[in-house]
Amino acid sequence: MLSGFTVVVALEGQWRLHDQPVLHQAMDLVRRHQGGRLVLLAARAEGQRLKGPHRRKLDQDALGALHARTEALGIPLLCFPELPTAAALKALEPLVQPDAVLYGEQSRLFAGWPASKAKFPRVFGEFRRHIQGAPEPPLPEPEISGTANGLEPWSAGDLGKLRYLSMAPPAPVPGPERGPNRGDPRSAFPFRGDEASALGRLQHYVFESDGLKNYKTSRNQLVGSEFSSKFSPFLAVGSLSVRRIWHALEAHQAIFGPSEGCEWMRQELLWREFFLWSEQAHGEAFHSESGIQDRLPHAIADQELFKRWSRAECGQERIDAQMRELNATGYLSNRGRQWVASHFVNSLQLPWTWGARYFEWMLIDADPALNTGNWAYLAGVGSDPRSFGGSPRRFDLEGQAKRYDPEESHMQLWR
Ligand SMILES: Cc1cc2nc3c(=O)[nH]c(=O)nc-3n(C[C@H](O)[C@H](O)[C@H](O)COP(=O)(O)OP(=O)(O)OC[C@H]3O[C@@H](n4cnc5c(N)ncnc54)[C@H](O)[C@@H]3O)c2cc1C
Repeated sequence: MLSGFTVVVALEGQWRLHDQPVLHQAMDLVRRHQGGRLVLLAARAEGQRLKGPHRRKLDQDALGALHARTEALGIPLLCFPELPTAAALKALEPLVQPDAVLYGEQSRLFAGWPASKAKFPRVFGEFRRHIQGAPEPPLPEPEISGTANGLEPWSAGDLGKLRYLSMAPPAPVPGPERGPNRGDPRSAFPFRGDEASALGRLQHYVFESDGLKNYKTSRNQLVGSEFSSKFSPFLAVGSLSVRRIWHALEAHQAIFGPSEGCEWMRQELLWREFFLWSEQAHGEAFHSESGIQDRLPHAIADQELFKRWSRAECGQERIDAQMRELNATGYLSNRGRQWVASHFVNSLQLPWTWGARYFEWMLIDADPALNTGNWAYLAGVGSDPRSFGGSPRRFDLEGQAKRYDPEESHMQLWR
């Protein structure tokens, strides 16, 4: 058994050092005990489902890069990618019986939402009206090395023993920062998932390109990396903090003045916040087929049709093109996701939870709260105000296609 005051930080899918409150809490504990040691743990949060192929690759990028950074600082990051945190802690028991275990949390704008389930707003407009004040600013990277910060150094022998118990860290996927080696050359998300790439993308989109400036008008497009921010995959693997994005938007406004792009981006980040708190407030009902409205939608459990849909063979060529993109890259534009989900529930009349589960497996930015929140909204059992007591909103696919893809560029690309 290793001796000395030891704090284990279970990062639970938050693969970054910036704006990471749990690391600051851990360092406070170490300092209060006038010295101690820090172990970082990479395992699965309790109850979290296994990830699909695109998402796993992104996790590998992010975790591999974080591992390289923390090892250079002399802090072990022990990997148990398939195990829940409790099982990983058990595996470490012969060597480490921690004095404290702290848990990383998904990045949110607000630390808490003061309403109970009964009082939690069912629709976004009301949620927005309840928000008071701006989010707290993001935290800087903590100092997590050196005796000056209260840390006892690990001996090479102890580090060796710890590594022996855990798995090898994932090696970052080789290849250039962007381009064909990052997967399908047509991908709208041709980036790595690590923290440096996430912060680079934030800088590029907000300050170094016209991305944010054009966001209000470009956000409904279907093709390319620049029509929207592509922050979602980084947020999903925890290599980017949402407060860091908000802070960048404030800095942009301070330099260039208010803009519609900034306002729309804030609005979308608040949608994210709404679904995250909504999932927490409504618990199991949020993910159930009857949703937060407690109303079973009409659906036919046709497995053959579902299979054809998932293989991009449902026969509606625009939907099949979207599904080919999803299967090949894991990314779909927001407009594409809306078309697919609306067609799934209204035209194919399949159970929306099947579509949601397939998306959760296939999306590179899969997040159960955002995914279910959006699917339930489109299935008419979630937070769409138009659907209360009525039926789901239906997208007129032909009209939409004329408006958002008049040149058929998406269909040409994903034929
Ligand atoms: C059926 C369906 C399923 C979805 N599943 C997911 C999912 O699993 N994970 C996920 O991150 N997003 C999901 N979305 C929301 C949205 O499509 C993606 O967040 C967005 O397309 C990601 O690209 P971006 O980062 O370039 O978005 P941008 O347009 O640049 O938006 C910036 C950020 O705002 C947030 N945001 C934008 N739109 C929404 C929205 N409708 N709901 C909640 N937050 C939003 C995201 O965090 C996004 O990264 C889903 C939408 C639909 C219709």
